[in-house]
Amino acid sequence: MESLDLTPDLAEDIGSRRWFRGLGTMIGLGAVALMFWPSMDPLEARTAMPESEEIRDEFRSQMIMPLALGADSGRRMGPTTRVIPLESAPERPQISLLATLAPGDSFSSMLRRAGVSGTDIGQVSALVGQAMPLAEIEPGTQIDIVLGRRSEQGAPRPLDALKFRARFDLELEVARQGVTDQSDQGGTLALQKNVIRVDDTPLRVRGQVGSSLYRSMRAAGVPASAVQDYIKALDDQIDMDRQVRSTDEFDIVIAYRRAATGERQAGQLLFAGIDRDGQAKTQLMRWGDQGRFYEASGVGEQRNGLVAPVPGPISSRYGMRRHPILGYRRMHSGLDFRARRGTPIVAVTDGTVASAGRAGGCGNAVKLNHGGNLSTRYCHMSRMAVSRGQQVRRGQVIGYVGSTGLSTGPHLHYEMYRGGRSINPASVKFVTRAQLSGTELAEFKQQLNRLKEIEVGAALTDLEALPTELEEPTREIEKIDLAARYDN
Ligand SMILES: [Zn+2]
Repeated sequence: MESLDLTPDLAEDIGSRRWFRGLGTMIGLGAVALMFWPSMDPLEARTAMPESEEIRDEFRSQMIMPLALGADSGRRMGPTTRVIPLESAPERPQISLLATLAPGDSFSSMLRRAGVSGTDIGQVSALVGQAMPLAEIEPGTQIDIVLGRRSEQGAPRPLDALKFRARFDLELEVARQGVTDQSDQGGTLALQKNVIRVDDTPLRVRGQVGSSLYRSMRAAGVPASAVQDYIKALDDQIDMDRQVRSTDEFDIVIAYRRAATGERQAGQLLFAGIDRDGQAKTQLMRWGDQGRFYEASGVGEQRNGLVAPVPGPISSRYGMRRHPILGYRRMHSGLDFRARRGTPIVAVTDGTVASAGRAGGCGNAVKLNHGGNLSTRYCHMSRMAVSRGQQVRRGQVIGYVGSTGLSTGPHLHYEMYRGGRSINPASVKFVTRAQLSGTELAEFKQQLNRLKEIEVGAALTDLEALPTELEEPTREIEKIDLAARYDN
């Protein structure tokens, strides 16, 4: 019998018994090799020993150290008979703190929480009140307060100083006259007004629309809220998806304020434009008390039709029908919308509340006048959210769906009138647009020209400091920096 060949050449006689034996050997050797494969588990490292100043200090108290190195073992020693308690712990002579005026908070209660005494609160409020009404201090305003040394134990600390940015252009400082570290009680409190120079050149930004108008505008330095206002203003006027190309240029002007101290404040959108091939394609400017946008020609913004007063299907149309409660055929002079009780009802377009109250079979009803002899009425409300004479904007909530008056269940009965006659609301798509004319149109165009003359990005630079505002630097490095700046 020939010796068993465990290692044949696997390239020969493929498929024979000998070949399979060879394959078995190879797999077997492979398995053995794999068994000795090192584990893939991570090697455990030495426990990490965080090293920092504080941890070393923490350990110092538990170490035995030579006195020369400042031994301080036994930090947590219990008191022995040799410990003499102090009569009273010494207090800091002054406390500096930062208080924030919360929304809905009052100036005086904020001071009381900060630990200012009642008499001081009265004096400070009177002083600050001379400069500006206390109610006008914006929530979120931070107030630096310094409380001084108590006159006696248990007495409240007197207010030494108080400082805050009362307005964008005003800093107020209240300080006790003649306060030194030594004297217990200084003189009376006095107010100092620091008027901050403010420049209110509007901010104009231009740039290419690119693949995303929002991102391009944000990248060009337009504040997010202004970008949203810009898109909303244009969207009311034109079909943005079809009429704006990526090669177009956007042109935006927003109210802007720069303080000499470096703060910036962006205000409302003043102008929104789209240019194509160097020509103005769309130009909208805010005009009037209502803050509406008008085209360069003086035509008011196009309203994209009337909005639906409630979301939901129309359950009964305008025309002759059999009345569900009265039982006979009669004119249904409106549209019925099926909706759950409490669904908000919105004004279909801008208008004035002509009446709001009980109106017979209509139940709780709100009637709006929209101009152009057009008015709308909303019936069966469970609750009304507006009152007579109030101005409402398109989409504003005026009430909630209910079933008051002659009604079989919660729904909105919606009517429209032109010149006092009931008309089919489904037949009206747009309300007439406003048109400026005469002197108002001339003023509008003047203002538009002024806005379009603003230099792009001019408001983004820092305000040039006046010689009186330059402070002498105290650190050497800043002096070198300043010298280098003047050399240029
Ligand atoms: Zn109806």
